[in-house]
Amino acid sequence: AAAPLVGVFGGGVAGLACARALGEGGVRAVVLERGRSVGGRASTRFAPPEYSEPRWDHGCQFVSAKSARFSSTCERLLEAGALAEWEGTFGTLDSRHDRFVEDVKRKRRLVGGATGAMADLCAQLLHEAEERGASIVTRAELLGVAAPDGAGAGWEARVRRNGATEAMRFDALVATDRAMAPVLEAAAPDIAGSMRAAAQGAAPSFALMLELATPLEGAPDGIFVAENPVLSWLSKESSKPKRRAGRDGEGAELWTAHSSAEFAKLVVQEHGMTARGTEAHDAALEHVTSEMLAAVREVTQAAGWGKLDLLTPPSAHRWGNAFPGPCADAAVAERRVASSPCGTLVACGDWAAPEGQQGRVEAAYLSGEAAAGALLASLATAGAGAKL
Ligand SMILES: Cc1cc2nc3c(=O)[nH]c(=O)nc-3n(C[C@H](O)[C@H](O)[C@H](O)COP(=O)(O)OP(=O)(O)OC[C@H]3O[C@@H](n4cnc5c(N)ncnc54)[C@H](O)[C@@H]3O)c2cc1C
Repeated sequence: AAAPLVGVFGGGVAGLACARALGEGGVRAVVLERGRSVGGRASTRFAPPEYSEPRWDHGCQFVSAKSARFSSTCERLLEAGALAEWEGTFGTLDSRHDRFVEDVKRKRRLVGGATGAMADLCAQLLHEAEERGASIVTRAELLGVAAPDGAGAGWEARVRRNGATEAMRFDALVATDRAMAPVLEAAAPDIAGSMRAAAQGAAPSFALMLELATPLEGAPDGIFVAENPVLSWLSKESSKPKRRAGRDGEGAELWTAHSSAEFAKLVVQEHGMTARGTEAHDAALEHVTSEMLAAVREVTQAAGWGKLDLLTPPSAHRWGNAFPGPCADAAVAERRVASSPCGTLVACGDWAAPEGQQGRVEAAYLSGEAAAGALLASLATAGAGAKL
């Protein structure tokens, strides 16, 4: 019999870590990602042409490891050149007193190593998964799931691809995004419930991407902004390894700003979760751009780093489900995976983690591996495939 085939929905860190670990266990995975490339919240915004400047890591800023397991993963990715250390000056700007306090404790902050962009991380995870037999389909969105009918036909996933809907069959399924809860409701209500619970305390976030004509003199490289109603973080993209300033030798620095949680919540309350490509969404982003730009101008000038001198108009991005809330199901948090009673539909992601560990690349990676471990055990028990 052929090796079992697993459909992994979502090509972020969790989905790719899962596909890689399934491959290690001799199981083929097909990663199906709704977007046009892998990465999810650990991705990079490019202005065309791709892989050249200007680029902004508009989601995840840097990767750090707390557990021994993820530390060894980071070592592997450093060795492969997919991650590199972001060396620079980091600290906190108290914007009420316009005072910057540099971090004295040295912490290892890892960013993209191949091209200096966060997208390098998922590009490498995809490469490693493909080396282990996985394949990827982009622009493929999971719309619905039907449970196995007992005749050995496996799970049926309804997938939208190239504007058409098709049915795909898999021996097992992995769902990696809390937004998939409604899609799983009918076939796996328990899993949908766990995902919905984590989505309840979730927080949105906005990123503002800036291209400057002249540098912010003396500004540090990574700045946590405290006591500010609009901002939480500023990063000098062009200080990351292998990065240079603007396009074609023009431009001096690229910066990314992240909103405060309160500001993002207020914007979403006022404008709603507007759909991309609509006038309402453009209006919301215009409002965000103007408010965040004013706040960046104010804090950088007050801190003594000079006037903001824009080379190009800034742009904003909304992360609707930026950070998950606490995982309400203690067993799911502990195991880092939610499983259906039959064990062949599992859900993972940065939301399936113990209290205080959610919402980080480390949590996503460990959850992806846990999902693969749970599936490998279930498929072995079910005897689905001669290879197991
Ligand atoms: C602004 C911001 C800053 C951050 N900073 C840091 C940081 O400094 N350090 C850190 O460790 N972490 C940080 N994080 C968190 C980190 O980015 C995430 O924890 C991690 O990337 C989550 O990976 P994931 O695979 O669980 O989810 P995701 O990356 O969200 O991946 C889920 C994927 O599923 C896809 N998908 C959704 N629905 C469907 C569907 N129906 N069909 C098919 N595909 C679908 C999505 O397109 C997405 O690609 C930050 C996040 C944000 C938003």
